[in-house]
Amino acid sequence: MNNQKPTKVCSKCQEEKTLREFHKRKDSKDGHFTVCKICRQKKNKQYDLKHKKEKKIRMQQWYKNNKNKIKLYSQQHYLDHKNEIKIRLQRYYFKNKEKIDLKHKKYNDTHEKERRKS
Ligand SMILES: [Zn+2]
Repeated sequence: MNNQKPTKVCSKCQEEKTLREFHKRKDSKDGHFTVCKICRQKKNKQYDLKHKKEKKIRMQQWYKNNKNKIKLYSQQHYLDHKNEIKIRLQRYYFKNKEKIDLKHKKYNDTHEKERRKS
């Protein structure tokens, strides 16, 4: 009898699981990761969290160090492109006028309702 599903032992949690519970990987011997999906997810999440924190700290540090430069740059950028930005905004408004108006209307409507409720 060989109708059993192929299984594999996860190298992380040491549990025997079916291959469906492992992510596929072309360059490995059996075409699957040695670590199961759940363990991989856990690991990725931890990595993401750590990475996110580090990235945030780095960004804050960078921002701190370049605060004046950034400020100056955005001011300069604004002055340099003042008209462009204005035109772009106007164009955007005209292009999306109905959408924007509708959004405002919706906002006002819900606001009005809430006001009446209380
Ligand atoms: Zn596992």
